[in-house]
Amino acid sequence: MFPEEALVNAVCECGMTLDRPRSRTQCSDCGTGMCRSCSIEVDGVTYCRWCVTSIGRAA
Ligand SMILES: [Zn+2]
Ligand SMILES: [Zn+2]
Repeated sequence: MFPEEALVNAVCECGMTLDRPRSRTQCSDCGTGMCRSCSIEVDGVTYCRWCVTSIGRAA
């Protein structure tokens, strides 16, 4: 669904540079690549901190 070609600019929204595209975390909702500190796992699905807020599933 989210071709990696579209994610070549591996920089997290928080400004953190992601030097290993394949190992970085990707949001299951919006597909945004993000650093570990910005990823949040909900029920086994990884979301970015922004989507977790928007879907209202943060504990
Ligand atoms: Zn980040
Ligand atoms: Zn997201």
